[in-house]
Amino acid sequence: MRLSDRDHVHVWHPCSQMKDYEDFPPLDVVGASGRFIEIRGGQKLFDASSSWWCKSLGHGHPKIKAAVAAQMDKFEHVIFANTTNSCIVELSEKLCALCPGLDKVFYGGDGSTAVEIALKMSVHAQQHRGQPQRNKFAALSGGYHGESALALAVSDLGMYAKPYAELCPEALKIGPIPYCRGEDDPLWSDAGQYWSAIEKQLNRAQDELAAIIFEPIVQGAGGMRIYSPDLLRRLRAWSSSRGVDLIADEIMTGFGRTGKMFACEHAAITPDYFCLSKGLTSGWLPFSAVLCKNETYELFYDDYDRSKAFLHSNTYSGNALGAAAAMASLRAIEEESVLSGAQELSALMKARWRDLCDEIPELSNSRHLGVMTAGDLIPEGSLSAAKNLPKRLGYAVYRESVRRGALLRPLGDTIYWLPPLNTTMEEMEYLYEVTRASILAVLRA
Ligand SMILES: *Cc1c(COP(=O)(O)O)cnc(C)c1O
Repeated sequence: MRLSDRDHVHVWHPCSQMKDYEDFPPLDVVGASGRFIEIRGGQKLFDASSSWWCKSLGHGHPKIKAAVAAQMDKFEHVIFANTTNSCIVELSEKLCALCPGLDKVFYGGDGSTAVEIALKMSVHAQQHRGQPQRNKFAALSGGYHGESALALAVSDLGMYAKPYAELCPEALKIGPIPYCRGEDDPLWSDAGQYWSAIEKQLNRAQDELAAIIFEPIVQGAGGMRIYSPDLLRRLRAWSSSRGVDLIADEIMTGFGRTGKMFACEHAAITPDYFCLSKGLTSGWLPFSAVLCKNETYELFYDDYDRSKAFLHSNTYSGNALGAAAAMASLRAIEEESVLSGAQELSALMKARWRDLCDEIPELSNSRHLGVMTAGDLIPEGSLSAAKNLPKRLGYAVYRESVRRGALLRPLGDTIYWLPPLNTTMEEMEYLYEVTRASILAVLRA
């Protein structure tokens, strides 16, 4: 039996309608190196979404591999309650140095867990402040924060969340959000016209909110949408004066994706909580961190019998291999000047996307920031009927891209590039050619 047939007997893949695999089976991966994934038979696919936005330094980075191997020689995992080690201390020092204003790090196993930790910590801290009625969350419409129940509650995900709506506490979704094209959009520096509607929604809930959670500047799963940093400055001012916390979910945007180390830097704000995962280990291991302020930490700091501790526990909290990968990844970002190197890549992505749009009028709403470029494939309604285009355009583009040498994974009909930050110019030209040919094959077939 072929591997894909055996897969179909026992494997249930994430974020998939399994029936789709009947006529387009999962790809049989035998290796991955740099920006490419190798499929059995020798075909190499450019990893255009950095394997769901986490492989920010590509596959098989030699320094990270060496650091994980060296840690394995010492120990791979030891309970992280009651123990410490030099690597996790060094990592915590490094993360706090990178995030001025944040002083303590709590570790989790993946992104959703980091979000749960921040939400729980915030509600709990409000209780310690004598504000137990502050037990609700606000979030941005169009946002995404993960798949566990609290994370789903603050996400705005339509059909992904609907079956579980009853399980999730109600959260306030604020909007409309000042979406913009990027840094050269006038909205980028002033979102004033959007603020009064949002402020009204927040004011109505101001006495019951524990925290406002957001993906800073770029909303990923909601469709790779960019919004004005000015909204974050206004949220910071509003929440500081009301005693409401701000939780920045930098799980996708962190570690250079938006052209800065962290997307919050575009708005020059310090949130009360910072959620990190994905690029933290550059996708080497499931590992996450929540940073908070000393002021928050001290609310929980007391004699044991006063029952104030934050007793959240995850088996793999502080996992040693994850910590080693994170430390090596942070070092590589510095030693290899990844952020400054990505500027040239960013400019090329922007230019090539413009070429795509010039040639393909169906590609609209282009947006670009740092190492992320996106646009929506919306053919004129009449056109699509006349030309018999596939109903799921994005899915059709994915299938074409695999045939032509890249793994594009559009979000619905939103096509995007989110390549590893150290993608070379030649590789980017290649991704452009494959994307162009794939879209044209679908639209002009
Ligand atoms: C991916 C993601 C998460 C969830 O992380 P998992 O590791 O998949 O649980 C949360 N928030 C954002 C912004 C993400 O992109």
